[in-house]
Amino acid sequence: MKEQPVTVFWFRRDLRISDNHGLFKALTSGRPVLPVFVFDTDILNDLEDDDSCVSFILRQVQQLQDKFEADGSSFWIYHGKTLDAFKRLVAEYSVERVFINQDYEPYARKRDQEIFEYLGSMGIEMKAFKDQVIFHKNEILNGDGKPYTVFTPYSKRWLAKLSEKDWKPYPSEKYLGNLLKMAPLRKFHHVDIGFRRGSLEIPPQEITPEILTAYKDKRDFPAVDATSRLGVHLRFGTISIRQVTAAAVQYSSAFLNELIWRNFYMDILWHFPQVEKQSFKPAYDHIAWINSEKDFARWCEGTTGFPLVDAGMRQLNQTGFMHNRVRMVTASFLCKHLLIDWRWGEAFFAEKLLDYELASNNGGWQWAAGSGCDAAPYFRVFNPILQQEKFDPELVYVHRWVPEFGTDHYPKPMVDHRMARQRAIDTYRAGLVER
Ligand code: FAD
Repeated sequence: MKEQPVTVFWFRRDLRISDNHGLFKALTSGRPVLPVFVFDTDILNDLEDDDSCVSFILRQVQQLQDKFEADGSSFWIYHGKTLDAFKRLVAEYSVERVFINQDYEPYARKRDQEIFEYLGSMGIEMKAFKDQVIFHKNEILNGDGKPYTVFTPYSKRWLAKLSEKDWKPYPSEKYLGNLLKMAPLRKFHHVDIGFRRGSLEIPPQEITPEILTAYKDKRDFPAVDATSRLGVHLRFGTISIRQVTAAAVQYSSAFLNELIWRNFYMDILWHFPQVEKQSFKPAYDHIAWINSEKDFARWCEGTTGFPLVDAGMRQLNQTGFMHNRVRMVTASFLCKHLLIDWRWGEAFFAEKLLDYELASNNGGWQWAAGSGCDAAPYFRVFNPILQQEKFDPELVYVHRWVPEFGTDHYPKPMVDHRMARQRAIDTYRAGLVER
C-alpha cells in the first residue's frame, strides 16, 4: 500500500459517517481516504474491564467497519499507544495528510499535539475541524476579546451569532466511494482489547419533535422520562450536534438553551483547562472539607436517608444515568450537606455516568459546589426535601428507585438539614472570606 498516497481520517469522538465535518473534508480532499481508529491504552488502562462505554464504542467501530467493507474499503484499527499507532501507520501507508475533528479535553489536546509533532517531523500535515460544537475556541468572546465566564451574556452572544449555516450538514455519507479500496482488515472484539461486554446497553437514540415540544414543561420532573437521552450520543459523536441544533431551533428554545450550556462548558474547559483539577474560583480551594470516607460511601450507595438523593444515586448505580435535576440535588448534597470535596463526587460520576463528559461534568460539579464560573452563591444551599416535594411530589421517582422508602428498613437522615446548612455556610465563609 506504500505506493498510493492517502489521506487518513482518524475517528475519535465522532463515530458516525453522516454529517461528519472532518470526514467530509478528508473524503473531498482528492486522495483516497483510509479510516483509522485507535483503542488508546492510555485511556483504556484506567477503566474497569467491563466498562459499558467501551462496549458501545466497540459496537460503533464494528458497525463502521462493516459499512466501509460494504463499500469495498475497510477500517484500520490499532490497540495500544496512539503514537505507536501512527508510527505503524506511516510505515505501512504513504500518508500524505491526517484529518481529525477537534477534541477540547486537556488529555486529547496533549495527545493530538504529540501526534501533530510526530507527523510534522515526517513531513505529514495534520488538520483539525470543528465538529463537536457549534462554536469553538475564540468564536464567542466578549467585548474585550476575552472568553465569557457568565452564562447569560455568553448565551446571548451565541444566539446572536447563530445562523442557518452553523447547522448546515456536511454530507460526508455521500462520498464514501472515495475511501481507499482494499481487502478487509482485522476485526476487533472485546477480547482483543482486554475487555468484557459491559452490562449496560446504550440504545440508539433519535431526536423526536414529541420530546422537544414537551421538553420545557416536563424536563424538570425526574419521574417522567422527558429528556432526550442524547448525552452519550453527543459524547461519542454517534449523532451530529448540527442535526440536534437544527431540531432544537425548530422545536424548542428551552432545549437549545441546554445545548448552549454544553457549548459554554466546552469553551470554559478550552480557555481554562486548569478547571479539570482546580476550582474555577481559586479561593474555593481553601474550603476545609470534612471528606469523611464513611459519609461518602453512604452517598455513593444511596443510603443517606434523603429520598431524592438516594433515588438519584441508585438510578445512577443501576442504569448509568441520572436525571439532571437530581444530579444538581445529589451534587449539592455532597458538597454542602456532607462537606465533601466536589472532586470526589465528580470522579464518582465520571466512573458511573454513561454520558460522562469532562466539560459538562466538571461544570456541573463546580456549579453545585459554588466554585465554578457562574455558580450559585455559596450561601444558597439546596434543600433536598423541598426539591423532592417540588419535583417529585407524588414520590413516583423515589418509590421507583428506593422501594423500601416509608418502611422501617429505610435509614434515618444521616444529617440534620438545618444543622448541615448552617455548617456549610460557616465552613464556606471561613474558607473564602475569613482567611
Ligand atoms: P437533555 O435534557 O435532553 O439535554 C440535551 C443535551 O444538552 C444533553 O444531552 C447535553 O449534551 C446537553 N445538556 C443538557 N443539560 C446540560 C447542562 N446542564 N450542562 C451541559 N450540557 C447540558 N452532562 C453530560 O453530558 N455529561 C456529564 O458528565 C454531565 N455531568 C453532570 C454533572 C452534574 C453535577 C450536573 C448538575 C450536570 C451534569 N451534566 C452532564 C448535565 C446534564 O445533567 C446532562 O447533560 C443531562 O442530564 C443528560 O441527559 P439528556 O441527554 O436526557 O439531556
